[in-house]
Amino acid sequence: MNLQSGIQKIKKEFRVLTNVPMKQYTRFKVGGPADLLAVPKTRQELLAILTAARNESVPVTVVGGGSNLLVSDRGIRGLVLITTNLTSDICHKKGPDETIHLTAEAGERLSGVCRYTVTHGLSGLEFCAGIPGTVGGAVMMNAGTATQGIGKAVLCLDLLDLDTLVVSTLKKQDLCFTYRRLSLENHLILGIKFTLAPGNPDMVRKTFEATVKHKQKTQPMNLPSAGCFFKNPAPETPAGKLIQDAGLKGESFQDAQVSTVHANYIVNRGNATCQDILALKARIQKAVFNHCGIMLETEVRMIGNKGEKR
Ligand SMILES: Cc1cc2nc3c(=O)[nH]c(=O)nc-3n(C[C@H](O)[C@H](O)[C@H](O)COP(=O)(O)OP(=O)(O)OC[C@H]3O[C@@H](n4cnc5c(N)ncnc54)[C@H](O)[C@@H]3O)c2cc1C
Repeated sequence: MNLQSGIQKIKKEFRVLTNVPMKQYTRFKVGGPADLLAVPKTRQELLAILTAARNESVPVTVVGGGSNLLVSDRGIRGLVLITTNLTSDICHKKGPDETIHLTAEAGERLSGVCRYTVTHGLSGLEFCAGIPGTVGGAVMMNAGTATQGIGKAVLCLDLLDLDTLVVSTLKKQDLCFTYRRLSLENHLILGIKFTLAPGNPDMVRKTFEATVKHKQKTQPMNLPSAGCFFKNPAPETPAGKLIQDAGLKGESFQDAQVSTVHANYIVNRGNATCQDILALKARIQKAVFNHCGIMLETEVRMIGNKGEKR
C-alpha cells in the first residue's frame, strides 16, 4: 500500500499535525519533520488512530516526553504518537503485606508521579527524582541511577500490542528489565501499577530534595540534551569518567558539545543537528576505545530516517 495515500486518509479523518519538526518534541531540540503527529487524549482516541494506521499500513513511532531520543535530521516517516496527553488521576490503595499499589497512566510525567509519592509519603521511587519524561518512557527505559532502575518498583503493566491492537496486562514476573531497558517489542505501555511502601513523609521529601539538588549540581540541566548519552560499561567504570579520562570534556563538533559539567552528556549549544551529534559520538567512541579499549554503547535511542536532511 502507498504510504502517501495512507497519510492522506489519516490526515482527513483525524486531528493530526503534518510535517511537524520533531525538534519541538525532544529535549535535545533536534530532529526533522514527522509526516503525521498525533497527541491522543484518551485510550479510545489512541485506538481509533492506531486502527486507521494499521489498516493503511502507516508505520507508527511512539514518543513520550522525548527526553531520551535523538531524532534524525530527515525526520520520521509515518505517524508519530505522542503519549503526553494520555493521563488520568494518579491513585493509590493498600496492597498485601503492608505494600501500597500506585496506578498511573503512561503519559503522566514521572515528576508528577514522584510529587504524588512525596505528598502521600510513599517510598520506592526516590531515586527517580529529577528524571524528565513520562512514566511510560521511564518504564520502557528502566530509568534510574547507575545501580537502580524503575522496573524494580513495577507490579504490572497494561499493554497495547501494536500489531493486533489487543490490550493485555503483564505481571512483573513476565517482564524482563535490564540496565536501561525493558525487553518489549512493538507494544505501547498504557498504564503502570507500582508496588511502593508506606514511608516517613519527611524522609521521603528530604531524599527527593537531596537527589534533585545533587542532579542540579552535577548535571547540565540548563542546556538541551537527552541525559546520559552512553551506557555505563559497569557501575565502577562510568562512561562520564572514561570520556573525561580520554580528554574529551568540552570537546565539540559544531553546536554539539561534550558537557563541561558532566562528560557523559552531549549538549546542544543552539543549532546542533543529529549529524553533528553523531559525528561527536563517533569521535568519543574512538577516543575512549583508543584510551582504554572499551567501546561505549549509546543509551540514547536513535530514531527516524537515516541519511542527509530532506
Ligand atoms: C536532563 C536529563 C536528565 C536525565 N536524567 C536521567 C537519569 O537520571 N536517569 C535515567 O535513567 N534517564 C535520565 N534521562 C533520560 C530520560 O529522561 C529517561 O530515559 C526517561 O525516562 C525517558 O522518558 P520519555 O517519556 O522522555 O521517553 P522518550 O524519550 O520519549 O522515549 C524513550 C523510549 O521509550 C519509548 N516509549 C516512550 N513512551 C512509551 C510508551 N508509553 N509505551 C512504549 N514505549 C514508549 C519510545 O518509543 C523510546 O524508545 C535524562 C534526560 C535528560 C534530558
